[in-house]
Amino acid sequence: MDITEKKNSAIENSKIDKLEKLLEVKNLKTFFYTEEGIVKAVDGVSFDIYLDEVLGLVGETGCGKSVTALSILQLVRETGKIIEGSIKFNDINLLELSEQEMREYRGNQITMIFQDPLNSLNPVMSIGKQVSEVFLLHQKEKLKKTQDNLRLERKKLIDERMNLKKELIKKEKDGLISEEEKKIFKLKIDDLKDKIQRTPLLKHLALDEAEKIIKEVGIADARGILKRFPHELSGGMRQRIMISMGLSCNPLLLIADEPTTALDVTIQAQILDLMQKLKKKFKTSILLITHDLGIIAETCNRIAVMYSGNIVEYATADDLFKNPRHPYTKGLIAAIPSIETKNKKLKTIRGMVPNLIFPPSGCRFHPRCDERLEICDKIKPSWIEISDKYHIACHLYDPKYKDSSKYKWANEEDIESFKV
Ligand code: SF4
Repeated sequence: MDITEKKNSAIENSKIDKLEKLLEVKNLKTFFYTEEGIVKAVDGVSFDIYLDEVLGLVGETGCGKSVTALSILQLVRETGKIIEGSIKFNDINLLELSEQEMREYRGNQITMIFQDPLNSLNPVMSIGKQVSEVFLLHQKEKLKKTQDNLRLERKKLIDERMNLKKELIKKEKDGLISEEEKKIFKLKIDDLKDKIQRTPLLKHLALDEAEKIIKEVGIADARGILKRFPHELSGGMRQRIMISMGLSCNPLLLIADEPTTALDVTIQAQILDLMQKLKKKFKTSILLITHDLGIIAETCNRIAVMYSGNIVEYATADDLFKNPRHPYTKGLIAAIPSIETKNKKLKTIRGMVPNLIFPPSGCRFHPRCDERLEICDKIKPSWIEISDKYHIACHLYDPKYKDSSKYKWANEEDIESFKV
């Protein structure tokens, strides 16, 4: 089946109009200040994520996808700085929060899973310790409440046992008890003794929670896994553990940065299936970052195509795959290998991703664009809504410029070989 025909059940089940906005990113700019110059990794990105939807962020390596995700969580590494924009999560601008306040959101309401689970997990800590740490950090109050309830229950059992003992002694003293009744009393007292357990420590309660969430991600021997270390698990298992950690606090938003890139295809399918199931169960919205349009087509409600620090096309998965408009998106879709086009040369996009220190003038895609207009290297395309919730940044769809003269490439033959 052609990728453009893939059925996107997610979009069928939800109408975006009816959804509530969870995250609103507006004109986000994140630059890195290096010795060579300023790397404009994210340069004016805007998008929304609605409750219970999957938004796919797609683009070539180095186009700013991961930096966008890290900016949301304010985890941009040293030399990087968010210089402009707003990131509203449930109407709170995360960029205005202090580091302390931001920690309340990270891992709790917004979590992130990374591409390589082996590098993301601590190699010298057991799985149990790592997963339970999430509960100890973000769910301590809940654990304390459980501990208090267990303490109360224990006290109740102790009191009940004491009362039974007292009653037995009194009855024995007054000679008002038969041997048969004595036996029943003693059985009850022993039974209560067995039921009275030590109140578990918080770390043990956290381990129980870790076991439960590991079971949720489809690992059968969850108790056994708790004692093991990351190097003892397969890639798929490690990614499941990462997902379990991400979902530990039942977050509202899960950012998955290339979650299946390091895995083989069968495990990829299992992980994507698992993410879909967990999304349904926990009602978590997902920002799925990938360069794989196949994954996007099967998983996402809407898609934002990113190129060189900007979003260039933003639409529902159905609209975008049925009728891609931006020349870059068309190039990406045409570059997907298909069994129907075997024995034909695979289409590619000419050239390379530009250097973000010296990005091309005007439209950043102009040095690679087959449909380029004369003005494309001079004027930056505006962000236009061409139909309901379908946005694009390309002069070809701007009434002001769409009729401008076409750029003439020096080598027409070369252009033909790249045509979509
Ligand atoms: Fe191509 Fe011009 Fe559109 Fe950029 S603005 S994608 S160069 S046609």
